[in-house]
Amino acid sequence: MEGALSNSNFIKNIVMDDLESGKVREVITRFPPEPNGYLHIGHAKSICLNFELAQDVGGKTNLRFDDTNPTKEDEEYVKSIQEDVRWLCFAWDNLCFASDYFDQMYERAVLLIKKGLAYVCDLSAEEMRQMRGTLTSPGKESPYRNRSVDENLDLFDRMKSGEFADGSKVLRAKIDMASPNLNLRDPVLYRISHATHHRTGNVWAIYPMYDFAHPLEDAIEGVTHSVCTLEFEDHRPLYDWVVEQCEMPNRPRQYEFARLNMTNTVMSKRKLKLLVDQQVVDGWDDPRMPTIAGLRRRGYTPESIRNFAREIGVAKSNSVVDERMLEYFVREDLKLKALRSMAILRPLKVVITNYPEGQVEWLDAENNAENPEMGTRKIPFSREIYIEQDDFMESPPPKYFRLFPGNEVRLKHAYFIRCEEVIKDDSGRVVELRCMYDPETKSGSGFTGRKVKGTIHWVDASFAYPAEFRLYEPLINDDEEGVDEDFLAHLNPQSLEVIQGYVENGLKDVAAMDKFQFFRHGYFSVDPKLSTPGKPVFNLVVSLKSSFQI
Ligand code: ATP
Ligand code: MG
Repeated sequence: MEGALSNSNFIKNIVMDDLESGKVREVITRFPPEPNGYLHIGHAKSICLNFELAQDVGGKTNLRFDDTNPTKEDEEYVKSIQEDVRWLCFAWDNLCFASDYFDQMYERAVLLIKKGLAYVCDLSAEEMRQMRGTLTSPGKESPYRNRSVDENLDLFDRMKSGEFADGSKVLRAKIDMASPNLNLRDPVLYRISHATHHRTGNVWAIYPMYDFAHPLEDAIEGVTHSVCTLEFEDHRPLYDWVVEQCEMPNRPRQYEFARLNMTNTVMSKRKLKLLVDQQVVDGWDDPRMPTIAGLRRRGYTPESIRNFAREIGVAKSNSVVDERMLEYFVREDLKLKALRSMAILRPLKVVITNYPEGQVEWLDAENNAENPEMGTRKIPFSREIYIEQDDFMESPPPKYFRLFPGNEVRLKHAYFIRCEEVIKDDSGRVVELRCMYDPETKSGSGFTGRKVKGTIHWVDASFAYPAEFRLYEPLINDDEEGVDEDFLAHLNPQSLEVIQGYVENGLKDVAAMDKFQFFRHGYFSVDPKLSTPGKPVFNLVVSLKSSFQI
């Protein structure tokens, strides 16, 4: 993972050099999503990079919607993208839409035609592909390549007015059909599309291609450093050609970095949309989705995502990042922020036979043992409690230190209890334990009489509050690194488990997105959609421990 574990940032070095040499006076970057889906964690990397590049040197960053493909784009995505960027705590200087530049782009295309550098071509997409040549053989020139300027101007104008059917004509740059760079073999600049655009409606019947639109958008906005992913490296000569031949006053430069790939994670809006459309998940913000909206709903914090993006750094070669790295950063972030509380996911009732009936005492519990500033709370304790089913075993293996017949354990924040009797139902299932407690062993009393090896958590049965827990595993399981086109064949059928259990009484009125560390279970966050007053629903953000180290 070249550069992945250091904070090396070769683009930042370029920016610094450009400022020092006076090549640029103010750094302007942009984050240019196409509004054809919700942003994912890969976009977060690009957002952090673009905004922080400018932030660090007092520059500016635009949020620009690259909305040049009307059939796939939608207002819903425009809204969600803005929400996600804001949530990551970045403020754009200008909110821009490529569609606002359609007139300027059209004028520049006309300029190219007038300069003899663009022509209207009637070949079909298939014919163009066939005539394009290969890496080892040159392409063939289109029979329409030598149309006169006047004819081209006339045809392009009529394309614009909607006279021709989709796919019947395109505008192409006239560069070099023998160029070793296939992108320079008369690339398409404009296509006909009679679709309705989410902002310009039916005003336009032609739309610019990415390779023509993007450099112009950058130049119009005065972007100095246009950062994109490595697939566009071979497009850079075309980017420069467009800026130069269109006689743009500003001269943006394109720089490429490695896109983020992550284990067990689909990283493409198009593929994520399939999961939504096929109802594999319940929407773009399903907590299993690697979208920013999904991660937010799951309980990830903006800080954890920004720290992750910084740590993976900016490399010049593609690699796959272990998804546990992202988990590491949310765990680190929540460690000192989340209230530590007790929740029972799979309850087993314990009756403390020597505890007086009707008595309740309120025990002290710290809210976060590693962060005393979070204070303490009182938790009830009485004769009946719930513990976790797997904190008891009737015939335990060696080194099992939790409850089993005759064994004594510590109840977190409370007393030692010893298991005296096991009650089963007709099928032989353990349904209740009878235990004795030792009043001398109260937590905080300084008791040193004897030691126990196991500490387990619990909630008081008469105060416990019913809650739903949603436990997650990766949506996609892939043995190899990265997930490819066949990702739908790798769906993990166990990606969601819904459990009904109990939380401490104090948690009955939690607010959406409140974060907790439930002892021995992990970090949880209150689901903003499913949780209702009086019926809290907790999403598992991340388990407590992992063998993963950075
Ligand atoms: P997708 O295939 O998911 O739609 P895209 O690259 O087509 O991705 P855009 O909306 O065009 O998505 O991307 C906006 C910006 O985010 C671009 O500059 C792009 O390079 C960057 N980006 C997209 N995916 C990643 C990724 N996995 N890692 C880093 N940057 C990314
Ligand atoms: Mg795209």
